[in-house]
Amino acid sequence: MSTMTAAVVDEFGAELAVRDYDLPAPGPGQALVRLIASGVCHTDLHAAEGDWPVRPTPPFVPGHEGVGIVEELGEGVTDLSVGQMVGNAWLWSACGSCEHCRSGWETLCEEQVNGGYTVDGSFGEYMIVDARFAAAIPEGSDPHEVAPVLCAGVTVYKGLKCTGVRPGQWVVISGIGGLGHLAVQYAVAMGMRVIAVDIAEEKLRLAAEHGAEITLNASTSDPAEEIQRRVGGSHGVLVTAVHPAAFGQAISMTRRGGTIVFNGLPPGDFPAPIFDIVLKGLTIRGSIVGTRQDMVEALEIYSRGQLRPRVSTRSLAEINTVFDEMRRGAIDGRVVIDFAGDR
Ligand code: NAD
Ligand code: ZN
Ligand code: ZN
Repeated sequence: MSTMTAAVVDEFGAELAVRDYDLPAPGPGQALVRLIASGVCHTDLHAAEGDWPVRPTPPFVPGHEGVGIVEELGEGVTDLSVGQMVGNAWLWSACGSCEHCRSGWETLCEEQVNGGYTVDGSFGEYMIVDARFAAAIPEGSDPHEVAPVLCAGVTVYKGLKCTGVRPGQWVVISGIGGLGHLAVQYAVAMGMRVIAVDIAEEKLRLAAEHGAEITLNASTSDPAEEIQRRVGGSHGVLVTAVHPAAFGQAISMTRRGGTIVFNGLPPGDFPAPIFDIVLKGLTIRGSIVGTRQDMVEALEIYSRGQLRPRVSTRSLAEINTVFDEMRRGAIDGRVVIDFAGDR
């Protein structure tokens, strides 16, 4: 059996092993993709630490922001062709026939398969995609720059839609990491006025560069008080932060009738003041990645030049260092693995 090099989770909480791993073969309806680039999402770190109630089964290969070239097609594939540039996604596949899939909410399908979690992902030289769910990368895309759109981008784009914020209204983006720095840009492209909140000054500077009108550091002052005083509360809040404290804070940032959308997934919970939620008529909802149609739209905004992901490239061999930096909140935008460096 032939092998490839991949970054593998052999044990939760331990370092990933960059080692030989079985080269996968495409089954019916699937394609084999040779990786060019893969974004590193905080979800990959949650996966490697076994942070969530439903855990993947080691050994597994994380990664769900992979961009590469289709090298081989499995039986019966008509959606893709050899040589085409495609991406994998967290929504690696869904059943297509349940109530959620039928009603345009395939992201809620209980039979869904998740890239880099329930099926091996993009932290290897090759990956398998389901031809119906692989993202077609628009012509002219830079493979490294477009990679973060495949999870971070589509997630915040869908999350922003779920806030119901209209052009000219205020939205708070809480957490300006991989997801949040793209959220600022999507929000601006969607005509929203942006308030950025993080606990690190350099993240706030990045948000301001991308058009945030107000930036607030949650580690030095109470951002909610400032938001109420300056704009009378925000119409919507999108939480992408990786600390549960940010989730509770979102409630007091919102104006009456506002909507809070949670994208961040830190383990834990937060106190929710019943009186405020009822009297202010708030909506609190979760949002998980996006559908294939959301992906097409999110990629189109990128290819029209309205989104400039901030990426820095590293080799696969550096994955454990990248995870350390992510734990410390020391990454500016997104780290993208460049597979050329490993060949
Ligand atoms: P990241 O590490 O790149 O960014 C996290 C950001 O949160 C950092 O900028 C950090 O400074 C900031 N932060 C930490 N504590 C904060 C606080 N108290 N207030 C404000 N900001 C704070 O992570 P990422 O890749 O952007 O992912 C963020 C979260 O979203 C993760 O939990 C990830 O699993 C989750 N996620 C969810 C979906 C979804 O579909 N819902 C998709 C992708 C990622
Ligand atoms: Zn992700
Ligand atoms: Zn389904």
